[in-house]
Amino acid sequence: MPFCPKCKFEYVKDIDVCHDCGEKLIDELPDEIKYSEIKTRWKPLQNLPGRIYAEMAKEIFDKKGIPSFIKSTFFSSAYGTRGVFGDTTTIFVPDDKLEECNAIIERMFNNI
Ligand SMILES: [Zn+2]
Repeated sequence: MPFCPKCKFEYVKDIDVCHDCGEKLIDELPDEIKYSEIKTRWKPLQNLPGRIYAEMAKEIFDKKGIPSFIKSTFFSSAYGTRGVFGDTTTIFVPDDKLEECNAIIERMFNNI
């Protein structure tokens, strides 16, 4: 079932975008969400230019004990033709860690 990573709403088949927040729906619950408390609010961190950066970020978050998960988005629906949901990679972190994670990402890019 499609599922909104922001609202945790499940949608019927063939729906692509959350009616509530406009977030692109994902196909199923990532394991991280299944195993974590449902009240955790997952926030997408900035879109990263490629999966390798997302993996790097996740590694740093893991070391700091911050849960995160990576979701790649691809053109998969009529809505995709807008381009904004191209082949970017987004890393999701808990709402209350968003600022910390943003700072980590910034430092990471400064060091490249
Ligand atoms: Zn939503």
